[in-house]
Amino acid sequence: MSNKVNRAQQWRLFWSSFIGFTIIFVLLGVIVFVLFRRTILTSVDQTLRVERSARLAGPPRQTTAQRPFGQNNHQSLQQQHKAIHPFMTTTLIFNRNGKILNQGQLGSRYETLKNITLDTSQKGQLHTITVNGKYNFRTLLVKVPATNADRTVAGRYLLILENIDPQKAAMRTFTKVMLITMGVFWLLSILMSVWMSRLTMRPILRSWGRQTEFVGNAAHELRTPLTIIQNKLELLLTKPNDKIIDQAENIAIASSESQRLQKLTQDLLALARSDSNTLQTNFEKTQVASFLDHTVEPYTEIAASQGKKLVLAPVPEFVVTLDQNLIHQLMNILIDNAMKYSPQGSTITVSAKPLGRKWQLVVADQGIGIKSADRQRIFDRFYRVDSSRSRKTGGNGLGLSIANWIVSLHHGTIVAKENQPHGTQFVTTLPVTPNSSLGSRREKKG
Ligand code: ADP
Repeated sequence: MSNKVNRAQQWRLFWSSFIGFTIIFVLLGVIVFVLFRRTILTSVDQTLRVERSARLAGPPRQTTAQRPFGQNNHQSLQQQHKAIHPFMTTTLIFNRNGKILNQGQLGSRYETLKNITLDTSQKGQLHTITVNGKYNFRTLLVKVPATNADRTVAGRYLLILENIDPQKAAMRTFTKVMLITMGVFWLLSILMSVWMSRLTMRPILRSWGRQTEFVGNAAHELRTPLTIIQNKLELLLTKPNDKIIDQAENIAIASSESQRLQKLTQDLLALARSDSNTLQTNFEKTQVASFLDHTVEPYTEIAASQGKKLVLAPVPEFVVTLDQNLIHQLMNILIDNAMKYSPQGSTITVSAKPLGRKWQLVVADQGIGIKSADRQRIFDRFYRVDSSRSRKTGGNGLGLSIANWIVSLHHGTIVAKENQPHGTQFVTTLPVTPNSSLGSRREKKG
């Protein structure tokens, strides 16, 4: 089921990025194409306008098409003529009825150009026309005033034409190149979209997997004490006439399992909070020596009751910023573990010292120790080196993950090391002033 949801989500991500890429490519292509076309036509249109100005300027002049070879031209007209493309610009002179009047000057071109009809509604406008299905021209229709000095064109219509076949060919080549390039990039965008959707889904899938595993483990852990309690209660119900003393052992087991259940739910709650980043932290300046005195003292009695010794090594006077509740919880986890995994008669030592801008808190025991292969994994949720032993001691494998989370809230690190001659040392290194918690204030994480 979850796989299906994830796959659907991955498809959705793929399609959204693919469609996004396609839209970007199409827009880019259209913009480049339009700009290219416009740039090409702009220079042609400029030529047509220059020709129009020249025509309307007054003194009679002739384009190449109209000029018989060998005829002398006025010097200034020649210069004016240089401004345009002399071999590509042609002018048709129409009378009011649409008849071409300069047939003679057009020479052999007349055969092709005679098919062009006059459309007076296009006066003053630029157009692109195709003649005989193969010649392309850019045209500008001009109505010459009757007062024009050049009597051959006065009161007539001039259709100034510029052949744009080379431009059209360039545009076709450009379009082909662009379509191929865009096609290649479009195909690449499919690969990019697959890659991006996978990349985006990877952390989601990872946390989904972790969450599913966490919920599964939590359910499993909750089921065991609940089943024991239920069995014990059902057993008591079958013996309604027994005295409490007769069933003291069963009641004690049910009671210890319910305590276990309570601890487990507290731990689960803490981890759920750590996942949602909604914990309110309260960082405050703290005298480490007196804080550790307070925190460790209650455990010395518990340790003594178990035949173990808990010692707080002399702590130098220094002040750090920390969340007292959270560090208290951290100490609780570490001391509790040290006692759980050490034999009677052993000593557990708590020590602290400043280290420049950091400080170190060490809980060392002379217990069973942790194999180096397990030293990393013990911080994983529900990880226990020896589950049956840990169950007997009331462990659920969540303590050190909570410890790790508390330390990371303080921007510190925690590692398990070997203690000499045997046992384990949990070394916690914390900044004297965690950056995100300068001063004493209440803040909401997340
Ligand atoms: P638990 O509730 O099972 O103790 P933790 O997360 O606190 O869970 O610890 C994970 C595992 O790490 C434990 O099951 C135990 O195997 C190992 N461990 C933790 N602290 C110690 C220690 N002081 N000495 C030896 N093993 C330890």
